[in-house]
Amino acid sequence: MAEHTRSKQLVSIFQQALKALAGKRNDWWPSSFLTTGRPTLRLPSVGIVIALASIVIGWWAFAGATGLDDDSRQTFDARPALFAGAVSVMAMTWSHLLSTRLRPLEYLFGGLDHMYRWHRWSGALAVATVFLHTQIVDDVKGIPGASRSIAKAAEELAGIAETFLYILVIASFIRWVPYRWWRHTHKLMYPAYVISCVHFYTAEKPFGNGEAWGRFYSTAMIIGIAAGAYRLVWRDMIKRGRPYTVTSIDRGSRYLDLTLSPVGTPIKHQAGQFAFIKLVKSGLTEPHPFTIASGPISNNLRFVMRTDGDWTGRVNKRLAIGDEVIVEGAFGRSHPIPRNAEAPVLWVAGGVGITPFLASIDVLSEDPRPVPPRLFYSVSSREEAIGLDELRRAHKRGLIQLHLHVTSDGSRLSPNDVIGEFGDGGLVNAHVVMCGPHGLLRSVSQAARDCGASTIHVEEFDIRSGIAPDLTQEIDDVIDEVTSRLQARKENQRVTQ
Ligand SMILES: Cc1cc2nc3c(=O)[nH]c(=O)nc-3n(C[C@H](O)[C@H](O)[C@H](O)COP(=O)(O)OP(=O)(O)OC[C@H]3O[C@@H](n4cnc5c(N)ncnc54)[C@H](O)[C@@H]3O)c2cc1C
Repeated sequence: MAEHTRSKQLVSIFQQALKALAGKRNDWWPSSFLTTGRPTLRLPSVGIVIALASIVIGWWAFAGATGLDDDSRQTFDARPALFAGAVSVMAMTWSHLLSTRLRPLEYLFGGLDHMYRWHRWSGALAVATVFLHTQIVDDVKGIPGASRSIAKAAEELAGIAETFLYILVIASFIRWVPYRWWRHTHKLMYPAYVISCVHFYTAEKPFGNGEAWGRFYSTAMIIGIAAGAYRLVWRDMIKRGRPYTVTSIDRGSRYLDLTLSPVGTPIKHQAGQFAFIKLVKSGLTEPHPFTIASGPISNNLRFVMRTDGDWTGRVNKRLAIGDEVIVEGAFGRSHPIPRNAEAPVLWVAGGVGITPFLASIDVLSEDPRPVPPRLFYSVSSREEAIGLDELRRAHKRGLIQLHLHVTSDGSRLSPNDVIGEFGDGGLVNAHVVMCGPHGLLRSVSQAARDCGASTIHVEEFDIRSGIAPDLTQEIDDVIDEVTSRLQARKENQRVTQ
């Protein structure tokens, strides 16, 4: 009987695990597709053009490359295989460069959030092309990059690195692995990249390492290797950011509203930018990105964070006035307030997505616009509305036009609210910025397009992106359950002894 109950329990645990892994249908769509629905047509940034050109140009480097088919002993055109390998190395080079968070790159790529997007896409391109390379490459005839034995050893190592790369990229795209573990595994991309570079350098190719093409690729690989070392050693281990102390904490129902004062020189920021913050407290030192919810006029920084996550939940429990916080930033190039003072402005915020607009209201109170931005703010209940008093004050002063939608009061924000307000053509040439949950933004962005909006700026509160459900909470529950059972067992043993 006991065995029957136990096997029933096991089946139920197995079913629950499968259900958690499967998640909901929406979990399997990349978040960017969910957010905007139809992609907005925009001119590619200068950075993208440079990156693509540096990758594509390699096609001409491998003209005339030949290989010897191992089975038929006939020569074949090795250009596609070698080009695929070179694309993979160059894509990884850009991926590492984009992870440095260097400010000049923000100008080239249009902000750190865009840099992270391209970092992910170049990682995906690297994996796809390394797969192609290994499927079609054979005994290439050309100029050796090193002695045969060194080249062979590098090739074997590259085979192992390739397997690692597949696992690491899958772990990045499938969000089952909690972020706090994933960010450590992600660092292993660097050794895999260095091995790929050594393989490229030592392998036989149609050009020598000292010739023009050889120098081109060697320079790119040196830049990529230096970029990876800069990120992993300097940025992650040595550079500290600026120290601040917590001077006020307001605990809301599901959020934390805090103010930080600088200990030394404050960071410089603009409305709409974000910063990475980490606490100088054991277990809370992991850096997390948050939008700065205060304007640039004050040296103090305000952050509002939802507290239902793993790290944010712990911060909510343990954060106290006087705690030291390290702030790194500011990043991002999104501007909720456009330069053109005449352009109509539409802001749409859901829940904690109000933060970039709170910072913008600080700016507007110093420098009001002739046409106030219309802010549609959607919250599930009144208790969850962040900064409601200041939003109302800004509305009264004519700085913004606030449209508050509280779902629990029966006034859920719908596309018709936006269409009713602006009508056909009402958003032509408008500056539209949205920040909030995917479902809401998807429906409202469609409505904005129906009113003539051509470009919609979406603030994504997600750096990792990817597909599949995030299992952080479920995994934490399992860890808690196992830990408490082990403790109970230990306690039992102690009592019986
Ligand atoms: C540019 C930007 C601005 C943001 N602004 C705000 C804001 O103003 N207010 C707010 O409440 N939230 C904001 N977020 C989201 C916030 O960073 C995450 O909710 C928070 O890091 C979740 O941490 P957690 O461990 O508590 O949650 P978890 O439940 O453990 O994780 C939830 C998800 O958050 C992401 N995440 C977790 N840890 C990190 C990390 N160290 N770095 C980056 N992402 C991580 C992952 O995608 C993960 O799947 C912003 C995110 C970005 C990228």
